[in-house]
Amino acid sequence: MIEVRGLTKKYHKEVAVDNLDLFVDKGEIAVLVGPNGAGKSTTIKAIAALLNYEGEILLDGLNNKSVEAKSILGYIPEMPALFPLLTVEEHLHYIAKAYGLKDYEEYMEKLLKLLNLDDKRDKLGGELSKGMQQKVSICCAILHKPKIILFDEPMIGLDPMAIKEVKIIMKELRDNGASLLVSTHLLDSMEGLWDRILIMKKGKGIFSKNRCELKDGEKLEEIFFEIMGE
Ligand code: ATP
Repeated sequence: MIEVRGLTKKYHKEVAVDNLDLFVDKGEIAVLVGPNGAGKSTTIKAIAALLNYEGEILLDGLNNKSVEAKSILGYIPEMPALFPLLTVEEHLHYIAKAYGLKDYEEYMEKLLKLLNLDDKRDKLGGELSKGMQQKVSICCAILHKPKIILFDEPMIGLDPMAIKEVKIIMKELRDNGASLLVSTHLLDSMEGLWDRILIMKKGKGIFSKNRCELKDGEKLEEIFFEIMGE
């Protein structure tokens, strides 16, 4: 569960996020949408405790800055940041060591297969295409089976097959009870998968509804344009 109360983030004098409340339940995929500069990435970075901010953020009831909260969090940044001289498989062993994971190899193999990376396991981070780096970044973020997963524009740069693979992974994480917050401009890519829509505009949260509170079959794009008044 993700609970954000009264989140405000200023960069010098500019208010990037303005008194935002946000909630994502267990077993829920929430899409965070809004125009460029609305404050989506800033919100995600604040939830991941990568920024200083005002307000309160709880992850499954834990303060997001605590070690306990960090151990149940997975974060996929907009730009993958791999180690150029580690192989794909070494990245995953490194993450496993960092989190003190035991018996992770079966899940690691499953992820590598699911994301079509098993034949790339010996390639160096620096030798991978942008899309492959993104897929490795996803594997690294979820190897410890986090309960809270933050995706910042996960589909950008992925081919249609990879988008399908990532959607399978998101669904599985959701079905296992995780809370997913996905910032994206590619609304089509989340159709059939989202449970909640959160819309930001100029730093403020202007709309938050669960799918069952909305008209049956209404598409994300329709809701977005309706709320934005365009
Ligand atoms: P996009 O859809 O373009 O990725 P976004 O909704 O993710 O946008 P943010 O990246 O959160 O928006 O930016 C919100 C505001 O904060 C923007 O006005 C941006 O210029 C500003 N901002 C973001 N990062 C910084 C920074 N490091 N320093 C100063 N201002 C920043």
